Amino acid sequence: MGVENKRTLTKTRRKTRDLDQIKADLLSPKHLSQHKNATPKEYLPGLGRWYCVECAKWYDTEANLVVHRKGKPHKRRVKQLREKPYTQKEAEAAIGLGTLNEEPSKADQGAENEIEMAT
Ligand SMILES: [Zn+2]
Repeated sequence: MGVENKRTLTKTRRKTRDLDQIKADLLSPKHLSQHKNATPKEYLPGLGRWYCVECAKWYDTEANLVVHRKGKPHKRRVKQLREKPYTQKEAEAAIGLGTLNEEPSKADQGAENEIEMAT
């Protein structure tokens, strides 16, 4: 199974910020302002006045931004941002490494035994 069209995967023209970058934006105003100031205002839609932080997108009018904030893609993105980032620890736990769930599993076994005795 190969990559059907490499160009599709490597296109960067419409690349938006990654979720971890947006999370950092939401947590620190400095991080956000660095990103906003990276492009001169003259090159941005609506002179860079209407920006959706969650989606890392510029809008040309306030009306468009308001409509966007009510829309499905925006709400989907907000939901994605609420989830915890995937960590290395979780990845190791998934393949049976690490100590992430050693203690809860012992507790679970105890609970299972109780159920078996009750039935
Ligand atoms: Zn948005």
